[in-house]
Amino acid sequence: MLNGYFRRAMLHLKNLIAGELRDAVGGRRIDVYEPARGRVFALAPDSDEQDVDLAVKAAQAASAQWVAMGREGRAKVLIRLAETIERDLDQFARMESRDNGKPVELARTVDIPRAVSNFRFFATAAIHFSSEAHMMDDVAVNYTDRQPIGVVGAISPWNLPLYLFTWKIAPALAAGNCVVAKPSEVTPCTAHLLAERCAEAGMPPGVLNIVHGLGAKVGATITAHPGIPAISFTGGTRTGAEIARVAAPMFKKLSLELGGKNPVLIFDDCDFEATLSTTVRSSFRNQGQICLCGSRILIQRGLYTRFRDAFVERVRALRVGDPQDAASDMGAVVSEAHMEKVLAHIRLAQEEGGKVLCGGERVRLAGELAEGWYIAPTVIEGLGPACQTNQEEIFGPVVTLQPFDDEEEALALANDSAYGLASVVWTNDVKRAHRVARALRTGIVWVNCWMVRDLRTPFGGMKQSGVGREGGEEALRFFTEAKNVCIRL
Ligand code: NAD
Repeated sequence: MLNGYFRRAMLHLKNLIAGELRDAVGGRRIDVYEPARGRVFALAPDSDEQDVDLAVKAAQAASAQWVAMGREGRAKVLIRLAETIERDLDQFARMESRDNGKPVELARTVDIPRAVSNFRFFATAAIHFSSEAHMMDDVAVNYTDRQPIGVVGAISPWNLPLYLFTWKIAPALAAGNCVVAKPSEVTPCTAHLLAERCAEAGMPPGVLNIVHGLGAKVGATITAHPGIPAISFTGGTRTGAEIARVAAPMFKKLSLELGGKNPVLIFDDCDFEATLSTTVRSSFRNQGQICLCGSRILIQRGLYTRFRDAFVERVRALRVGDPQDAASDMGAVVSEAHMEKVLAHIRLAQEEGGKVLCGGERVRLAGELAEGWYIAPTVIEGLGPACQTNQEEIFGPVVTLQPFDDEEEALALANDSAYGLASVVWTNDVKRAHRVARALRTGIVWVNCWMVRDLRTPFGGMKQSGVGREGGEEALRFFTEAKNVCIRL
């Protein structure tokens, strides 16, 4: 328990409802932890149905004004919002790092710049968004009228807090909707910084509402609320299934971006150095807590030993340290519960017969960081495709290595998963690159690269990795209702 002095010194986060920063109606708060130190540093509103209801009413009341501002009027507001985040980038990056445990350099160079890009990109994308017309010879003309849905819900996870929050909010707003958004209760701080800047950017009250709180309360209320006909969700597959169960009988529009167990296919004709250095990143960036991280590394047998030895040497050299220190390659994992889950997966891998080549344990740093939640980057070999370690999402700094003989076996191993989010292929054979990319059952395939992102491209997964696609026009289509108008000539 915290004493009174520390509770007063804490950062107090607020909901944004109808343009006002407010506490939860019920007055309750949730502790927010700093993973680097394993202690509470902020308090977020523990909102409930009453707060969501107020947010929905505010969004409904703001809708006509937001629509009437037109695409260009809305774009101006969203671009101003992007500019305020960019101006305060350092503050946002430090806060993201403190809240999530990620290295501050990663927040400064990826998370926050990407949140800025999300607003800029969708502000202008909506201006360029066009719809179709279909001529029926001399009979009639059809045109597609895409109108905003009205009020939409956005629910996001903790791994890329502001980046994924804005990835939903920006297209929803640009398309002319008002939004009720819930950031993860584990990492709510940068959403609060965003809320503080909405008025300065000229956003009319009620257009964007941010309701903090627990998934089972605030998330579930957004999902079931009759005033919210569309929901965009990113998070775990089990949560996605629960949201679909509740929302489907209400005929809500749903976009679900869920878990993954991404394969990396390394053929023996690859560019060895590029493969090695990028695979270290694709395995351990953000402590392996990116839905796009490769966690099953498949290596052609002729290259297996050379790659494994070089990979383990590079991984051992990664510096796990204070996320606020620019010299740290890896920071802390997001919570104590998540650390325990990842460590339990490592123990299970050993019980299943896996050999830990490096890492495998909690890292205890010195001084103030001694209670932080750090895990050494872990590489495991000797496990077949059917074991739990190679089937279940771990979502931490843990990868497995498996050899394969030929392309057919590589594809069989890669596709042997309930998930289908992303995959990475390393080869210099252009024909093979196309063949393998076509045969992979994932929504995203990177060839000879990883995390290269063009915001115009469709983003999302197959199988248990999700339903629907985000990005570019896919997102603007999701956040609008298409109406066909047929006029006789
Ligand atoms: P989570 O599913 O536990 O939580 C995600 C969000 O849903 C949080 O805001 C949470 O409060 C809310 N939530 C929880 N229960 C809810 C309920 N019953 N109804 C409505 N909302 C509820 O996921 P997480 O642990 O925050 O994030 C990690 C997961 O997210 C991983 O599985 C990861 O793969 C996935 N992820 C996917 C993508 C993608 O683009 N496909 C991107 C990032 C993360």
